[in-house]
Amino acid sequence: MQIIFVITLVLAFMSIMLYKNFLKYREMKRRHKNSLQDLEFAQERIYYLAHYDTLTDLPNKLRFYEELNTALAKAKIENHLVALLSLDLDNFKNVNDSLGHFYGDLLLMQVARQLRNIVNPMDTVARLGGDEFIIIQKEVFAAQEVNDLAEKLMEIFSNTFLLGESEFLITPSVGIAVFPFDGEEGDVLLKNVDTAMYSAKKLGKNNYQFFDRIMIIEILERVELENSLRKAIEQDEFVIYYQPIVETNTAKIIGLEALLRWQHPQKGLLSPGYFIKAAEETGLIIPLGKWVLENACQQVRKWHQKGFNDLMLSVNLSPAQLRDDNLVKTISQIIEKCNIIPNCLKLEVTESIAIENIGFVCSILEELEKLGVGISLDDFGTGYSSLSYLRKLPINNLKIDRSFISKLNIGYEEDEIAIAVINLAHAMGITVTAEGVETKEQLVFLQEQNCDSVQGYYFSRPIPVVELEELLEKQKKFVS
Ligand code: C2E
Ligand code: MG
Ligand code: MG
Repeated sequence: MQIIFVITLVLAFMSIMLYKNFLKYREMKRRHKNSLQDLEFAQERIYYLAHYDTLTDLPNKLRFYEELNTALAKAKIENHLVALLSLDLDNFKNVNDSLGHFYGDLLLMQVARQLRNIVNPMDTVARLGGDEFIIIQKEVFAAQEVNDLAEKLMEIFSNTFLLGESEFLITPSVGIAVFPFDGEEGDVLLKNVDTAMYSAKKLGKNNYQFFDRIMIIEILERVELENSLRKAIEQDEFVIYYQPIVETNTAKIIGLEALLRWQHPQKGLLSPGYFIKAAEETGLIIPLGKWVLENACQQVRKWHQKGFNDLMLSVNLSPAQLRDDNLVKTISQIIEKCNIIPNCLKLEVTESIAIENIGFVCSILEELEKLGVGISLDDFGTGYSSLSYLRKLPINNLKIDRSFISKLNIGYEEDEIAIAVINLAHAMGITVTAEGVETKEQLVFLQEQNCDSVQGYYFSRPIPVVELEELLEKQKKFVS
Protein backbone atom coordinates (compact mmCIF):
# COMPACT_ATOMS: atom_id res chain seq x y z
CA MET A 1 0.00 0.00 0.00
CA GLN A 2 2.78 2.27 1.04
CA ILE A 3 4.71 1.41 -2.11
CA ILE A 4 1.73 2.23 -4.31
CA PHE A 5 1.35 5.54 -2.57
CA VAL A 6 5.04 6.37 -3.13
CA ILE A 7 4.87 5.40 -6.82
CA THR A 8 1.75 7.55 -7.34
CA LEU A 9 3.49 10.44 -5.64
CA VAL A 10 6.56 10.09 -7.83
CA LEU A 11 4.44 9.88 -11.00
CA ALA A 12 2.44 12.92 -9.99
CA PHE A 13 5.63 14.82 -9.31
CA MET A 14 7.08 13.84 -12.70
CA SER A 15 3.87 14.89 -14.52
CA ILE A 16 3.97 18.28 -12.82
CA MET A 17 7.61 18.71 -13.83
CA LEU A 18 6.88 17.68 -17.39
CA TYR A 19 3.94 20.09 -17.65
CA LYS A 20 6.06 22.89 -16.21
CA ASN A 21 8.76 22.22 -18.79
CA PHE A 22 6.16 22.14 -21.53
CA LEU A 23 4.84 25.55 -20.43
CA LYS A 24 8.37 26.91 -20.35
CA TYR A 25 9.04 25.54 -23.82
CA ARG A 26 5.81 27.07 -25.18
CA GLU A 27 6.68 30.43 -23.73
CA MET A 28 10.19 30.26 -25.22
CA LYS A 29 8.76 29.40 -28.63
CA ARG A 30 6.33 32.32 -28.44
CA ARG A 31 9.09 34.70 -27.46
CA HIS A 32 11.31 33.37 -30.23
CA LYS A 33 8.53 33.87 -32.76
CA ASN A 34 7.95 37.40 -31.57
CA SER A 35 11.59 38.24 -31.70
CA LEU A 36 11.79 36.82 -35.26
CA GLN A 37 8.83 38.98 -36.24
CA ASP A 38 10.47 41.94 -34.60
CA LEU A 39 13.66 41.20 -36.45
CA GLU A 40 11.83 40.89 -39.77
CA PHE A 41 9.97 44.09 -39.10
CA ALA A 42 13.19 45.87 -38.15
CA GLN A 43 14.90 44.58 -41.27
CA GLU A 44 12.03 45.78 -43.44
CA ARG A 45 12.12 49.13 -41.76
CA ILE A 46 15.90 49.42 -42.26
CA TYR A 47 15.52 48.42 -45.90
CA TYR A 48 12.72 50.95 -46.37
CA LEU A 49 14.68 53.75 -44.74
CA ALA A 50 17.73 52.92 -46.83
CA HIS A 51 15.84 52.68 -50.12
CA TYR A 52 12.86 55.01 -49.91
CA ASP A 53 12.25 58.67 -49.37
CA THR A 54 10.12 58.99 -46.25
CA LEU A 55 8.46 62.22 -47.31
CA THR A 56 7.09 61.10 -50.68
CA ASP A 57 7.30 57.31 -50.30
CA LEU A 58 9.17 57.22 -53.60
CA PRO A 59 12.35 55.19 -54.18
CA ASN A 60 15.45 57.16 -53.23
CA LYS A 61 18.79 57.42 -55.04
CA LEU A 62 20.00 53.97 -53.92
CA ARG A 63 16.83 52.16 -54.99
CA PHE A 64 16.77 54.20 -58.22
CA TYR A 65 20.23 52.90 -59.18
CA GLU A 66 19.12 49.32 -58.55
CA GLU A 67 16.00 49.80 -60.66
CA LEU A 68 17.97 51.49 -63.44
CA ASN A 69 20.56 48.72 -63.63
CA THR A 70 17.88 46.04 -63.74
CA ALA A 71 15.98 47.94 -66.45
CA LEU A 72 19.14 48.38 -68.56
CA ALA A 73 20.12 44.72 -68.24
CA LYS A 74 16.62 43.68 -69.36
CA ALA A 75 16.63 46.16 -72.26
CA LYS A 76 19.96 44.77 -73.50
CA ILE A 77 18.50 41.26 -73.64
CA GLU A 78 15.10 42.24 -74.99
CA ASN A 79 16.44 44.83 -77.40
CA HIS A 80 14.35 47.85 -76.56
CA LEU A 81 14.94 51.39 -75.32
CA VAL A 82 14.85 52.87 -71.83
CA ALA A 83 14.18 56.56 -71.31
CA LEU A 84 15.25 58.66 -68.34
CA LEU A 85 13.30 61.84 -67.65
CA SER A 86 14.92 64.04 -65.06
CA LEU A 87 12.79 66.79 -63.56
CA ASP A 88 13.75 69.81 -61.50
CA LEU A 89 11.17 72.26 -60.18
CA ASP A 90 11.88 75.82 -61.28
CA ASN A 91 12.30 78.31 -58.41
CA PHE A 92 11.27 75.76 -55.77
CA LYS A 93 13.28 77.76 -53.27
CA ASN A 94 10.66 80.52 -53.52
CA VAL A 95 7.99 78.17 -52.14
CA ASN A 96 10.07 77.29 -49.13
CA ASP A 97 11.06 80.92 -48.57
CA SER A 98 7.60 82.42 -48.99
CA LEU A 99 5.32 79.68 -47.57
CA GLY A 100 7.69 77.78 -45.31
CA HIS A 101 9.01 74.21 -45.32
CA PHE A 102 5.70 72.63 -44.37
CA TYR A 103 4.12 73.79 -47.62
CA GLY A 104 7.27 73.02 -49.54
CA ASP A 105 6.98 69.41 -48.37
CA LEU A 106 3.29 69.37 -49.24
CA LEU A 107 4.12 70.45 -52.78
CA LEU A 108 6.76 67.73 -53.16
CA MET A 109 4.26 65.13 -51.98
CA GLN A 110 1.65 66.31 -54.50
CA VAL A 111 4.19 66.34 -57.34
CA ALA A 112 5.29 62.80 -56.40
CA ARG A 113 1.71 61.52 -56.42
CA GLN A 114 0.92 63.10 -59.79
CA LEU A 115 4.12 61.78 -61.37
CA ARG A 116 3.21 58.26 -60.25
CA ASN A 117 -0.20 58.69 -61.88
CA ILE A 118 1.15 59.40 -65.36
CA VAL A 119 3.65 56.52 -65.68
CA ASN A 120 3.06 52.82 -66.35
CA PRO A 121 2.92 50.67 -63.20
CA MET A 122 6.22 49.01 -64.11
CA ASP A 123 8.04 52.35 -64.46
CA THR A 124 9.94 53.99 -61.63
CA VAL A 125 9.51 57.50 -60.25
CA ALA A 126 12.25 58.33 -57.78
CA ARG A 127 13.22 61.36 -55.74
CA LEU A 128 16.93 61.93 -55.93
CA GLY A 129 16.89 64.72 -53.36
CA GLY A 130 15.50 68.23 -52.86
CA ASP A 131 13.19 69.10 -55.72
CA GLU A 132 14.81 66.63 -58.09
CA PHE A 133 12.73 63.76 -59.45
CA ILE A 134 13.57 61.16 -62.06
CA ILE A 135 11.47 58.74 -64.09
CA ILE A 136 12.67 55.48 -65.62
CA GLN A 137 10.45 54.63 -68.58
CA LYS A 138 11.43 51.00 -68.81
CA GLU A 139 10.14 49.45 -72.01
CA VAL A 140 10.17 51.93 -74.87
CA PHE A 141 9.67 50.78 -78.46
CA ALA A 142 8.76 54.01 -80.26
CA ALA A 143 9.90 57.64 -80.15
CA GLN A 144 6.34 58.75 -79.64
CA GLU A 145 6.12 56.99 -76.26
CA VAL A 146 8.85 59.22 -74.79
CA ASN A 147 7.34 62.35 -76.30
CA ASP A 148 3.91 61.41 -74.96
CA LEU A 149 5.22 60.94 -71.44
CA ALA A 150 7.09 64.27 -71.57
CA GLU A 151 3.89 66.00 -72.71
CA LYS A 152 1.87 64.40 -69.92
CA LEU A 153 4.51 65.52 -67.48
CA MET A 154 4.33 69.13 -68.66
CA GLU A 155 0.55 68.98 -68.45
CA ILE A 156 0.70 68.26 -64.69
CA PHE A 157 2.27 71.66 -64.22
CA SER A 158 -0.23 73.55 -66.36
CA ASN A 159 -2.57 73.41 -63.35
CA THR A 160 -2.01 75.10 -60.02
CA PHE A 161 -1.19 73.18 -56.83
CA LEU A 162 -3.31 73.84 -53.76
CA LEU A 163 -1.08 74.61 -50.80
CA GLY A 164 -3.20 75.38 -47.75
CA GLU A 165 -5.46 78.26 -48.77
CA SER A 166 -3.40 79.43 -51.72
CA GLU A 167 -2.98 78.13 -55.23
CA PHE A 168 0.57 77.87 -56.44
CA LEU A 169 1.81 77.64 -60.02
CA ILE A 170 5.15 75.94 -60.45
CA THR A 171 6.98 74.89 -63.62
CA PRO A 172 9.49 72.11 -64.32
CA SER A 173 12.67 71.82 -66.38
CA VAL A 174 12.95 68.35 -67.84
CA GLY A 175 15.91 66.58 -69.41
CA ILE A 176 15.57 63.35 -71.37
CA ALA A 177 18.19 60.74 -72.22
CA VAL A 178 17.55 57.46 -73.96
CA PHE A 179 19.40 54.15 -73.68
CA PRO A 180 21.33 53.08 -75.73
CA PHE A 181 21.88 56.25 -77.78
CA ASP A 182 22.84 58.58 -74.96
CA GLY A 183 24.79 56.00 -73.05
CA GLU A 184 24.79 52.27 -72.47
CA GLU A 185 25.63 52.46 -68.78
CA GLY A 186 23.65 54.04 -65.97
CA ASP A 187 26.24 56.65 -64.95
CA VAL A 188 26.69 57.96 -68.50
CA LEU A 189 22.93 58.19 -68.95
CA LEU A 190 22.61 60.08 -65.69
CA LYS A 191 25.31 62.53 -66.69
CA ASN A 192 23.62 63.13 -70.04
CA VAL A 193 20.14 63.45 -68.63
CA ASP A 194 21.53 66.10 -66.27
CA THR A 195 23.08 67.98 -69.19
CA ALA A 196 19.74 67.86 -70.98
CA MET A 197 17.93 69.14 -67.88
CA TYR A 198 20.34 72.06 -67.50
CA SER A 199 19.91 72.94 -71.15
CA ALA A 200 16.13 73.01 -70.49
CA LYS A 201 16.80 75.44 -67.63
CA LYS A 202 19.02 77.56 -69.85
CA LEU A 203 16.35 77.64 -72.50
CA GLY A 204 14.06 79.54 -70.15
CA LYS A 205 12.69 76.76 -67.91
CA ASN A 206 9.22 75.21 -68.19
CA ASN A 207 10.23 72.95 -71.10
CA TYR A 208 11.74 69.56 -71.88
CA GLN A 209 14.88 68.83 -73.84
CA PHE A 210 16.29 65.62 -75.28
CA PHE A 211 20.00 65.13 -74.73
CA ASP A 212 20.53 65.59 -78.45
CA ARG A 213 17.10 66.02 -79.82
CA ILE A 214 17.70 65.81 -83.54
CA MET A 215 19.97 62.82 -83.34
CA ILE A 216 17.66 61.00 -80.97
CA ILE A 217 14.50 61.56 -82.98
CA GLU A 218 16.17 60.24 -86.10
CA ILE A 219 17.46 57.14 -84.38
CA LEU A 220 14.22 56.53 -82.55
CA GLU A 221 12.33 56.69 -85.81
CA ARG A 222 14.77 54.23 -87.27
CA VAL A 223 14.32 51.82 -84.37
CA GLU A 224 10.59 52.26 -84.72
CA LEU A 225 10.90 51.35 -88.41
CA GLU A 226 12.99 48.28 -87.66
CA ASN A 227 10.57 47.06 -85.03
CA SER A 228 7.55 47.55 -87.25
CA LEU A 229 9.38 45.85 -90.15
CA ARG A 230 9.84 42.78 -87.97
CA LYS A 231 6.16 42.83 -87.09
CA ALA A 232 5.18 43.39 -90.73
CA ILE A 233 6.96 40.20 -91.78
CA GLU A 234 5.19 38.21 -89.07
CA GLN A 235 1.82 39.74 -89.90
CA ASP A 236 2.09 39.31 -93.67
CA GLU A 237 1.84 43.01 -94.52
CA PHE A 238 3.96 42.77 -97.69
CA VAL A 239 2.59 42.50 -101.20
CA ILE A 240 4.26 42.17 -104.56
CA TYR A 241 3.42 44.50 -107.42
CA TYR A 242 4.44 43.58 -110.95
CA GLN A 243 5.63 45.92 -113.67
CA PRO A 244 5.50 44.68 -117.27
CA ILE A 245 8.67 44.54 -119.33
CA VAL A 246 7.75 44.81 -123.00
CA GLU A 247 9.53 43.95 -126.22
CA THR A 248 10.58 47.26 -127.76
CA ASN A 249 9.42 46.61 -131.31
CA THR A 250 6.20 44.71 -130.70
CA ALA A 251 5.10 46.18 -127.33
CA LYS A 252 4.36 42.60 -126.25
CA ILE A 253 4.68 41.87 -122.51
CA ILE A 254 7.57 39.43 -122.27
CA GLY A 255 8.42 39.73 -118.62
CA LEU A 256 7.56 41.19 -115.24
CA GLU A 257 9.60 42.75 -112.52
CA ALA A 258 8.50 41.87 -109.00
CA LEU A 259 8.53 45.04 -106.89
CA LEU A 260 7.92 44.87 -103.19
CA ARG A 261 5.33 47.00 -101.40
CA TRP A 262 4.47 47.29 -97.72
CA GLN A 263 0.78 47.59 -96.95
CA HIS A 264 1.29 49.52 -93.72
CA PRO A 265 -1.78 49.47 -91.42
CA GLN A 266 -1.51 53.21 -90.68
CA LYS A 267 0.68 54.71 -93.38
CA GLY A 268 -0.86 52.96 -96.39
CA LEU A 269 1.06 51.47 -99.31
CA LEU A 270 4.80 52.10 -98.93
CA SER A 271 7.48 51.86 -101.64
CA PRO A 272 10.81 50.09 -101.11
CA GLY A 273 12.61 53.45 -100.84
CA TYR A 274 11.04 53.73 -97.39
CA PHE A 275 12.14 50.40 -95.95
CA ILE A 276 14.64 48.45 -98.08
CA LYS A 277 17.71 50.14 -96.61
CA ALA A 278 16.60 49.42 -93.05
CA ALA A 279 15.76 45.84 -94.03
CA GLU A 280 19.25 45.44 -95.47
CA GLU A 281 21.04 46.89 -92.49
CA THR A 282 19.15 44.75 -90.01
CA GLY A 283 19.48 41.55 -92.02
CA LEU A 284 15.68 41.36 -92.34
CA ILE A 285 16.15 41.47 -96.10
CA ILE A 286 17.17 37.78 -96.00
CA PRO A 287 13.76 36.42 -94.90
CA LEU A 288 11.99 39.19 -96.81
CA GLY A 289 13.92 38.52 -100.04
CA LYS A 290 13.19 34.82 -99.73
CA TRP A 291 9.52 35.60 -99.29
CA VAL A 292 9.52 37.74 -102.46
CA LEU A 293 11.28 35.05 -104.48
CA GLU A 294 8.98 32.30 -103.32
CA ASN A 295 5.76 34.24 -103.83
CA ALA A 296 6.74 35.73 -107.18
CA CYS A 297 7.82 32.30 -108.48
CA GLN A 298 4.54 30.75 -107.34
CA GLN A 299 2.62 33.55 -109.04
CA VAL A 300 4.50 33.27 -112.30
CA ARG A 301 3.94 29.51 -112.28
CA LYS A 302 0.19 30.21 -112.09
CA TRP A 303 0.44 32.56 -115.07
CA HIS A 304 2.39 29.97 -117.04
CA GLN A 305 -0.36 27.47 -116.30
CA LYS A 306 -2.96 29.94 -117.51
CA GLY A 307 -1.30 30.00 -120.90
CA PHE A 308 1.14 32.91 -120.59
CA ASN A 309 3.99 30.45 -120.88
CA ASP A 310 6.71 32.77 -122.15
CA LEU A 311 6.58 35.22 -119.27
CA MET A 312 9.96 35.90 -117.66
CA LEU A 313 10.16 36.95 -114.01
CA SER A 314 12.72 39.45 -112.72
CA VAL A 315 13.42 39.62 -108.98
CA ASN A 316 15.75 42.12 -107.28
CA LEU A 317 18.53 40.78 -105.09
CA SER A 318 20.06 43.07 -102.50
CA PRO A 319 23.80 43.11 -101.66
CA ALA A 320 23.07 41.50 -98.27
CA GLN A 321 21.35 38.59 -100.03
CA LEU A 322 24.37 38.11 -102.29
CA ARG A 323 26.56 37.82 -99.22
CA ASP A 324 24.27 35.19 -97.67
CA ASP A 325 25.94 31.77 -97.71
CA ASN A 326 22.62 30.01 -98.29
CA LEU A 327 21.56 32.08 -101.31
CA VAL A 328 22.27 29.52 -104.05
CA LYS A 329 20.69 26.69 -102.06
CA THR A 330 17.63 28.82 -101.24
CA ILE A 331 17.07 29.77 -104.88
CA SER A 332 17.48 26.24 -106.18
CA GLN A 333 14.99 24.97 -103.57
CA ILE A 334 12.46 27.66 -104.53
CA ILE A 335 12.79 26.83 -108.23
CA GLU A 336 12.18 23.18 -107.45
CA LYS A 337 9.33 23.80 -105.03
CA CYS A 338 7.52 26.18 -107.40
CA ASN A 339 8.22 23.92 -110.34
CA ILE A 340 9.34 26.63 -112.75
CA ILE A 341 11.89 26.41 -115.55
CA PRO A 342 15.08 28.05 -114.18
CA ASN A 343 15.71 30.17 -117.24
CA CYS A 344 12.41 32.04 -116.88
CA LEU A 345 13.85 33.60 -113.70
CA LYS A 346 16.12 36.64 -113.89
CA LEU A 347 17.91 37.93 -110.82
CA GLU A 348 18.64 41.66 -110.80
CA VAL A 349 21.77 42.87 -109.05
CA THR A 350 22.78 46.51 -108.93
CA GLU A 351 25.82 47.84 -110.64
CA SER A 352 27.33 49.15 -107.38
CA ILE A 353 27.53 45.71 -105.72
CA ALA A 354 29.49 44.40 -108.67
CA ILE A 355 32.07 47.11 -108.14
CA GLU A 356 32.43 46.41 -104.40
CA ASN A 357 34.15 43.06 -104.69
CA ILE A 358 34.27 41.88 -108.23
CA GLY A 359 35.94 38.52 -107.54
CA PHE A 360 33.45 37.48 -104.90
CA VAL A 361 30.42 38.73 -106.86
CA CYS A 362 31.59 36.91 -110.01
CA SER A 363 31.87 33.58 -108.19
CA ILE A 364 28.37 33.86 -106.68
CA LEU A 365 26.85 34.94 -109.99
CA GLU A 366 28.55 32.06 -111.77
CA GLU A 367 27.06 29.61 -109.27
CA LEU A 368 23.64 31.14 -109.84
CA GLU A 369 24.06 30.89 -113.59
CA LYS A 370 24.86 27.20 -113.21
CA LEU A 371 21.35 26.79 -111.79
CA GLY A 372 20.13 28.06 -115.15
CA VAL A 373 18.80 31.44 -114.03
CA GLY A 374 19.56 34.70 -115.86
CA ILE A 375 21.47 37.61 -114.31
CA SER A 376 20.55 41.19 -115.02
CA LEU A 377 22.71 44.19 -114.11
CA ASP A 378 20.27 46.75 -112.68
CA ASP A 379 20.46 50.57 -112.58
CA PHE A 380 23.32 50.71 -115.07
CA GLY A 381 24.65 54.26 -115.32
CA THR A 382 24.02 55.34 -111.73
CA GLY A 383 27.27 54.19 -110.21
CA TYR A 384 30.63 53.75 -111.77
CA SER A 385 29.26 52.67 -115.13
CA SER A 386 32.50 51.08 -116.06
CA LEU A 387 32.04 49.23 -119.30
CA SER A 388 35.05 47.07 -118.54
CA TYR A 389 33.06 45.38 -115.76
CA LEU A 390 30.58 44.18 -118.32
CA ARG A 391 33.23 41.89 -119.73
CA LYS A 392 34.12 40.41 -116.34
CA LEU A 393 30.65 39.81 -114.91
CA PRO A 394 28.67 36.74 -115.95
CA ILE A 395 25.53 38.66 -116.91
CA ASN A 396 23.11 38.26 -119.79
CA ASN A 397 21.02 41.40 -119.47
CA LEU A 398 21.69 45.03 -118.64
CA LYS A 399 19.15 47.59 -117.48
CA ILE A 400 19.92 51.20 -118.36
CA ASP A 401 18.87 53.36 -115.42
CA ARG A 402 15.89 55.73 -115.60
CA SER A 403 18.07 58.78 -114.94
CA PHE A 404 19.67 58.17 -118.37
CA ILE A 405 16.46 57.37 -120.19
CA SER A 406 14.71 60.51 -118.90
CA LYS A 407 17.30 62.69 -120.68
CA LEU A 408 17.09 60.88 -124.01
CA ASN A 409 16.22 62.57 -127.23
CA ILE A 410 16.55 66.11 -125.95
CA GLY A 411 19.97 66.74 -127.39
CA TYR A 412 22.22 65.79 -124.45
CA GLU A 413 25.22 63.51 -124.55
CA GLU A 414 23.04 60.80 -122.93
CA ASP A 415 21.92 59.87 -126.45
CA GLU A 416 25.46 59.03 -127.48
CA ILE A 417 26.16 57.11 -124.28
CA ALA A 418 22.93 55.08 -124.60
CA ILE A 419 23.81 54.20 -128.19
CA ALA A 420 27.33 53.14 -127.18
CA VAL A 421 26.08 51.03 -124.24
CA ILE A 422 23.47 49.24 -126.37
CA ASN A 423 25.97 48.48 -129.14
CA LEU A 424 28.69 47.32 -126.76
CA ALA A 425 26.30 45.09 -124.80
CA HIS A 426 25.02 43.55 -128.03
CA ALA A 427 28.57 42.94 -129.19
CA MET A 428 29.11 40.95 -125.98
CA GLY A 429 25.89 39.00 -126.40
CA ILE A 430 24.11 40.90 -123.59
CA THR A 431 20.50 42.05 -124.05
CA VAL A 432 19.46 45.56 -122.99
CA THR A 433 16.37 46.79 -121.12
CA ALA A 434 15.63 50.50 -120.78
CA GLU A 435 14.13 51.43 -117.40
CA GLY A 436 11.74 54.32 -116.76
CA VAL A 437 10.41 54.90 -120.26
CA GLU A 438 7.74 57.53 -119.90
CA THR A 439 7.25 59.09 -123.35
CA LYS A 440 6.59 58.09 -126.92
CA GLU A 441 9.77 59.94 -127.99
CA GLN A 442 11.93 57.90 -125.67
CA LEU A 443 10.36 54.72 -126.98
CA VAL A 444 10.93 55.69 -130.62
CA PHE A 445 14.56 56.52 -129.89
CA LEU A 446 15.10 53.14 -128.20
CA GLN A 447 13.38 51.33 -131.08
CA GLU A 448 15.75 53.02 -133.49
CA GLN A 449 18.72 51.85 -131.43
CA ASN A 450 17.49 48.26 -131.28
CA CYS A 451 17.14 48.27 -127.51
CA ASP A 452 15.65 44.82 -126.75
CA SER A 453 13.05 45.64 -124.13
CA VAL A 454 11.59 48.58 -122.24
CA GLN A 455 9.90 49.11 -118.90
CA GLY A 456 8.21 52.26 -117.65
CA TYR A 457 5.09 54.25 -116.90
CA TYR A 458 4.54 54.76 -120.65
CA PHE A 459 3.30 51.15 -120.70
CA SER A 460 2.35 50.51 -117.11
CA ARG A 461 3.24 51.33 -113.55
CA PRO A 462 3.92 48.45 -111.17
CA ILE A 463 0.44 46.97 -110.49
CA PRO A 464 -1.15 44.30 -108.28
CA VAL A 465 -1.73 40.71 -109.49
CA VAL A 466 -5.39 41.20 -110.47
CA GLU A 467 -4.69 44.26 -112.65
CA LEU A 468 -1.73 42.61 -114.29
CA GLU A 469 -3.83 39.59 -115.13
CA GLU A 470 -6.38 41.88 -116.84
CA LEU A 471 -3.57 43.43 -118.86
CA LEU A 472 -2.31 40.02 -119.94
CA GLU A 473 -5.83 38.90 -120.93
CA LYS A 474 -6.36 42.11 -122.93
CA GLN A 475 -3.12 41.53 -124.79
CA LYS A 476 -4.06 37.92 -125.49
CA LYS A 477 -7.40 39.00 -127.06
CA PHE A 478 -5.68 41.72 -129.07
CA VAL A 479 -3.13 39.29 -130.55
CA SER A 480 -5.67 36.55 -131.36
P1 C2E B 1 14.56 48.96 -109.50
O1 C2E B 1 14.83 47.51 -109.38
O2 C2E B 1 15.45 49.75 -110.39
O3 C2E B 1 13.04 49.08 -109.93
C1 C2E B 1 12.56 50.06 -110.79
C2 C2E B 1 11.98 51.20 -110.04
O4 C2E B 1 11.66 52.24 -110.94
C3 C2E B 1 10.66 50.82 -109.35
O5 C2E B 1 10.57 51.58 -108.19
C4 C2E B 1 9.63 51.31 -110.37
O6 C2E B 1 8.38 51.58 -109.78
C5 C2E B 1 10.29 52.57 -110.87
N1 C2E B 1 9.82 52.90 -112.22
C6 C2E B 1 9.59 52.05 -113.23
N2 C2E B 1 9.21 52.73 -114.33
C7 C2E B 1 9.22 54.03 -114.01
C8 C2E B 1 8.91 55.24 -114.75
O7 C2E B 1 8.57 55.24 -115.91
N3 C2E B 1 9.05 56.41 -114.09
C9 C2E B 1 9.43 56.45 -112.79
N4 C2E B 1 9.49 57.64 -112.21
N5 C2E B 1 9.71 55.34 -112.07
C10 C2E B 1 9.62 54.15 -112.68
P2 C2E B 1 10.17 50.95 -106.82
O8 C2E B 1 9.13 49.90 -107.01
O9 C2E B 1 9.90 52.07 -105.89
O10 C2E B 1 11.48 50.21 -106.38
C11 C2E B 1 12.63 50.91 -106.10
C12 C2E B 1 13.79 50.00 -105.89
O11 C2E B 1 13.61 49.19 -104.74
C13 C2E B 1 13.98 49.00 -106.99
O12 C2E B 1 14.63 49.63 -108.06
C14 C2E B 1 14.82 47.95 -106.33
O13 C2E B 1 16.18 48.32 -106.31
C15 C2E B 1 14.28 47.99 -104.92
N6 C2E B 1 13.36 46.86 -104.73
C16 C2E B 1 12.07 46.73 -105.08
N7 C2E B 1 11.59 45.53 -104.73
C17 C2E B 1 12.62 44.87 -104.16
C18 C2E B 1 12.78 43.55 -103.61
O14 C2E B 1 11.88 42.71 -103.58
N8 C2E B 1 14.01 43.23 -103.11
C19 C2E B 1 15.05 44.11 -103.15
N9 C2E B 1 16.22 43.72 -102.65
N10 C2E B 1 14.94 45.33 -103.67
C20 C2E B 1 13.75 45.72 -104.18
MG1 MG C 1 15.24 46.11 -110.54
MG1 MG D 1 16.58 49.67 -111.72
